[in-house]
Amino acid sequence: MQISGRQLRSAGLQFAVEILLKTFAELDLPEPIQRALAEENYQIPTPIQAQTIPAAIEGRDVLGCAQTGTGKTAAFALPILDYLYHQNRKARRNHPNALILAPTRELAIQIGDSFKTYGRHAKLQQTLVYGGVGQGNQVKAMEKGVHILIATPGRLLDLMNQGVIKLSQLEIFVLDEADRMMDMGFLPDLKRIISQLPEKRQSLFFSATIAPNIVQLAKKLLYKPINVNVTPKTRSVDRIEQRVLFVEKSKKQKTLEHLIDDDSVGRAIVFTRTKRMANTVSSRLGKAGVKSAAIHGNKSQNARQRALDAFRKNHLKVLVATDVAARGIDIDGVTHVFNYDLPNEPESYVHRIGRTGRAGAEGVAISFCTSEDRGDLKAIEKLIDQKVPVDPDYPMPAGSESPPRRNPSTGSRRRPRPQRSAPHGAKTSGSGGSRSNKSSRSGSTSPNSSGKNSGRSRRRRGGGGGSGGGSGRSQGNSGRR
Ligand code: AMP
Repeated sequence: MQISGRQLRSAGLQFAVEILLKTFAELDLPEPIQRALAEENYQIPTPIQAQTIPAAIEGRDVLGCAQTGTGKTAAFALPILDYLYHQNRKARRNHPNALILAPTRELAIQIGDSFKTYGRHAKLQQTLVYGGVGQGNQVKAMEKGVHILIATPGRLLDLMNQGVIKLSQLEIFVLDEADRMMDMGFLPDLKRIISQLPEKRQSLFFSATIAPNIVQLAKKLLYKPINVNVTPKTRSVDRIEQRVLFVEKSKKQKTLEHLIDDDSVGRAIVFTRTKRMANTVSSRLGKAGVKSAAIHGNKSQNARQRALDAFRKNHLKVLVATDVAARGIDIDGVTHVFNYDLPNEPESYVHRIGRTGRAGAEGVAISFCTSEDRGDLKAIEKLIDQKVPVDPDYPMPAGSESPPRRNPSTGSRRRPRPQRSAPHGAKTSGSGGSRSNKSSRSGSTSPNSSGKNSGRSRRRRGGGGGSGGGSGRSQGNSGRR
């Protein structure tokens, strides 16, 4: 369930004034980071980046409502890299400076790759810590010292309990996909981790949805956050071409194979409702000569990662996935999403089709609907507030409820026009949240502070001095817990 800004405000969370950023050059990021962004051809920040980065660089806490695909990784990675680069400290054994907590190993690896990309010239140490593999290399990396630690909750706690990871010097904490962590039952682990965080820190909190339990958690964690919301419920659907095909169960596989054969299909993700069906569809695609792999919860982490890597490298044309396995997957260039089975949960439809059309690209989402799925389709259309256009080649069977509309004058079948709702994009709501709040990283005022970046310059001056403790991070959160 989404909740409104007013509900958030009444829950006591603070909002900031709108801060918009038009180009990365305006940020005055360190040269090595600017260079990496230029190499990646990043010029224009995405809405979440435009609103989050300046505030995070100033040291503000952030509550970001955004899914993967919106550019949220850079929204937290760039302020972290900026800060640590300017701190210019050696990585300390067992004591990371920044911790990014992600629900799954796949997402952690993706985040790690993004840090590697954006920070490749910045000479900061980073490592990943997740379960399902031996801990030896992770322990070694922590003992050598890391600035940036990207972790999943279970293994992090394990290594904390063993004394291999100590959070006492932590300065920046990121919680990514908070809603998913809750869905996966990580709340007790999260509480344990949060209880070990130093009071004086900056926290950045991201979630695709902001349900009441997320608000509770955010209230515990954040101090006067700016609130950035780039996921109104129709965000992803606006720029994705959607079609529904009325296909009976027995025809789904052949129809899929026929559609996948089209030249316009570069890389596709096919969603099924069950793990078993994912295996079946994938093996039948194999027999039809289409390279594919299935990913779902019964596959080992290694098998899932291998499949994702092969898909990313274009060795596979199709990934067949269940919802649980696919959320958080960020792969550029997915041209098509096929809903082999419609999801029972309408929200999953939005998550699924968001796997295509990433970072401004366009994509196609094709959904099969059997006579049994009509109710699910209706629920989806209600959620996204538009009719999914029916593919004229696969119309609703004659005699069914709500037949495709016909133009009364020509008698021709007309594709219903999707009603576009409010333009998607970002909105920063704001009241409160003064810049000189306690959470700011700034310690003292620098006479050299230039107007535009004065907050950041101040923070850097205040944050200097080399020792972890005196870094000029947020001035304590007392009174807010
Ligand atoms: P994320 O939401 O962080 O998973 O990012 C989704 C994709 O968008 C990733 O493949 C990024 O490489 C890409 N991306 C993020 N920010 C930008 C940007 N400002 N310009 C172009 N691509 C971007």
